[in-house]
Amino acid sequence: MGHHIDSEGRFQSDKFPDLAPDKIVLSFKDPAARRALNVYSIFAEDRELARDIRTRIDAIKICSCCDAALSKSGECESCEDFRPVF
Ligand SMILES: [Zn+2]
Repeated sequence: MGHHIDSEGRFQSDKFPDLAPDKIVLSFKDPAARRALNVYSIFAEDRELARDIRTRIDAIKICSCCDAALSKSGECESCEDFRPVF
């Protein structure tokens, strides 16, 4: 087992050790997490939550090179590409 599994077999975040077991924090700025949130929004029973997730995903400007979220000024922190945001 990896280091994210505790002695009871539950998932434990190492980045957020105060988070309860079997919980995980996902960032909308992380391309892989954003894809997971997109899928979650399809299946979430809470439809308002699903719509708000979709609204946030749709509002994020994405780097065309690496799929990372751009800063407000249009810079990509992952590949240092610069795309002006209009
Ligand atoms: Zn990029």
